[in-house]
Amino acid sequence: MSDQAAYDLECTNITKDFGSIRAVEDVSFEIPSGSFFSILGPSGCGKTTLMRMIAGFENPTSGDIRIKGRSVLDVPPNKRNVKMVFQHLALFPMMNVYDNIAYGLRCAGTPKSEIEGKVRDVLDRIALPDVAQREIHQLSGGQKQRIAIARCMVLDPDVLLLDEPLGALDLKLREAMKIELKLLQHQFNTTFVYITHDQSEALVMSDHVAIMNNGRFEQIGRPEALYHNPATSFVAGFVGDSNRWKGKVAEVKSDSARVETDAGLTMICKRRKGEELNAGQTVEIFVRPEFITAQKAGSAANADNTLTGTVDSVLFNGANSRVLVRGPSAELIEADVVVTGGAEDLRQGDGVCLSWAAQQTMCFAG
Ligand code: ATP
Repeated sequence: MSDQAAYDLECTNITKDFGSIRAVEDVSFEIPSGSFFSILGPSGCGKTTLMRMIAGFENPTSGDIRIKGRSVLDVPPNKRNVKMVFQHLALFPMMNVYDNIAYGLRCAGTPKSEIEGKVRDVLDRIALPDVAQREIHQLSGGQKQRIAIARCMVLDPDVLLLDEPLGALDLKLREAMKIELKLLQHQFNTTFVYITHDQSEALVMSDHVAIMNNGRFEQIGRPEALYHNPATSFVAGFVGDSNRWKGKVAEVKSDSARVETDAGLTMICKRRKGEELNAGQTVEIFVRPEFITAQKAGSAANADNTLTGTVDSVLFNGANSRVLVRGPSAELIEADVVVTGGAEDLRQGDGVCLSWAAQQTMCFAG
């Protein structure tokens, strides 16, 4: 196939067993050319194993991997046009920036006359035109990140794999690098596949995110879709903050269900398209904090769901405050809420009325 393939990378029914351990199970996805794709999941879910199979360091037990439309199962890592940036960056400390970037070109036998132009070009593109002669230890953490990416991009890969490259940075630099990485991906217009367990990194940078759990992909989607329409309770719990309750379905209607929670509350939930719900079924309920309105107790709340409680604490958070509320049952319930509509003066111990819509009450069979 030619470079005109619609997808830079396609994985079809990939499974990987290490003896009796199934690290990756029946994973399929494809990545359109020039996009930023993240694989997000908790430690041990199989992200690195999947990445190593794409790079060619491991073979799948079954399934196929295609790069630009061509199966690469028989292609060794150094012959796949895939490059990888690791968390420790793996820059050569004894070489200056120029030699670090030129190294791969020299190994590939690129004529000397072309190397300088390519190195200069990639340094311009990462907005570090003047660091060629610097030693690696003379670079900041952010500059090292960019040089590690430049060293891969100078080889013009079809796909760049990034294995938690921001993990070793301090919080402030990590925040800045998230935006930087997205801009770099855009600048090179090359497909980036980024693995992380940090949802804020994945959501900010990616065109599409795959949520991985126990070796399987639970959902692939745009960040907004994963946040607002999670397909499973795992995705709902892993992406974004949520209040969670366990309960049993009491009544099912066409577009809603009434649930009695284990803590003795009654809640009206949205029925998700295609999901079968039956009376008596065990379910888990998720409500995002920002969809809950907090008002002083005694205020009239006209909503599908209401709950009275006492303010446990108020966490100032810039534009919003998040209020933690103890619910009415013997078993304490906490609800985080973003304060809206005149409740800014809520204090610890105040009586409070929380309300939210059934439409914002996600319910998953347990
Ligand atoms: P982390 O975020 O902690 O790096 P991960 O999501 O990348 O985790 P993997 O490293 O891919 O997860 O591991 C997935 C599972 O496969 C784990 O249970 C791990 O112990 C197992 N595993 C990985 N490599 C091997 C191996 N070479 N031999 C045996 N088991 C392995």
